[in-house]
Amino acid sequence: MADTHNKETRSYNMSMIKGKDTNPEIVVRKFLHKNGFRYRLNDKNLPGKPDIVLPKYKTVIFVNGCFWHGHENCKYFVVPKTKTEWWLEKINKTRARDKLKINELKDLGWRIKVIWECELKSDKRDNVFNDLIVFLKENKHR
Ligand SMILES: [Zn+2]
Repeated sequence: MADTHNKETRSYNMSMIKGKDTNPEIVVRKFLHKNGFRYRLNDKNLPGKPDIVLPKYKTVIFVNGCFWHGHENCKYFVVPKTKTEWWLEKINKTRARDKLKINELKDLGWRIKVIWECELKSDKRDNVFNDLIVFLKENKHR
């Protein structure tokens, strides 16, 4: 029984890390597009291959899955009861990598916006997007 739960968690997890087109990211991309913001995706020349890059605003956006990136105090970040240490190690590695790439990007002069999957739930989405627009306009370079 415990193993079944673990498998489910793992496949959820895999769907989150699989690649470019995870759902939360598409939600953000659609919003930006609709509002006339131009962006690039998964820029390989930048540390951490940021999900969304807005060169004009010198801003990168990471759309993080709450489980995989270990969103603190979030109800979607629940460490599985089986293989707990294995999961924690994996998630802590991801957290460390996130921190590192954010620092590298900051050193290169980029502004960073992290949007969590849970912030894109329909009741919170408007607030997050309003904040995002304010953030982008504040940081417009030219
Ligand atoms: Zn969260």
